[in-house]
Amino acid sequence: MSEKKLEYARKMTKQEVESFYSFIRKTQDDKIAFAQKTLEDYGQKLINAYHEFAYKIDIEFLNTKKYIAFARQCFREQRCECGLKLKLFTNHYNGQPFLGCPDYLDETKTHKSWSYEPGENYQFLFKNWLTDIIKSLDLKGKLHTKYLLAFYEENGLKDLQLEYIGISSKELINRYTNINTKQKAFELRQVEFLRNQWPNVIYQFPVKYKYIGDKERSCFIDIICSDDETICIYECKTSRYNVNNEQMQLYIDVVRFINNALKINKNLKIDYITEE
Ligand SMILES: [Zn+2]
Repeated sequence: MSEKKLEYARKMTKQEVESFYSFIRKTQDDKIAFAQKTLEDYGQKLINAYHEFAYKIDIEFLNTKKYIAFARQCFREQRCECGLKLKLFTNHYNGQPFLGCPDYLDETKTHKSWSYEPGENYQFLFKNWLTDIIKSLDLKGKLHTKYLLAFYEENGLKDLQLEYIGISSKELINRYTNINTKQKAFELRQVEFLRNQWPNVIYQFPVKYKYIGDKERSCFIDIICSDDETICIYECKTSRYNVNNEQMQLYIDVVRFINNALKINKNLKIDYITEE
């Protein structure tokens, strides 16, 4: 798997843990200060960009609506989008019949035949609307969507996604923040559970490590359990789709290194705990 070799790995000192967290807090504060400055400098431009976007999206929304109505009509009348009535073909590979355009070889026209009734979905138009505005002014990385949305609201400008399709942009943005809170609560439940099964349970084991040729880095291993013979690393994931092998390899490397340094000779196991 990993060809990288650790130069060293060790448990962080208490002081290092503290300064790690204060660094995170500072970064957070810096981001807010930076966003405020960006809003001051670009306020009017951001308002103009909103109006341009709103104008453009209104046209796109109506065009999409029209197109969907047209596509649904094509489906109901069993016509190709070029206007011709669909006819039955046979699939060469599986022998299954399907409806297709009799004129599909004529490339001067657009052919599209619907085998199902297209639904009304406009979400793709608004999915990244705040990010799109931020990017259009080259402000990527300087302004989080959360602050931009709040700024628009303060200036009496509406959440376009909410206006058009009833989905609150604020809720979507908060959902990302909530994932972290949810993850934390999930981990703590697991810790409680594992305490009944293992004599030693460490939560959020803080590590400093360095791979050869790389810079020093920090990580926190979710849960480490141990008894007289075995050490087990548990990695908590709210979804099994988030499983990250590279991260797991790092944890194994790090724990193995620390054990060797301390001359601890126990079996090393890894396990994932997933919520779904
Ligand atoms: Zn056609």
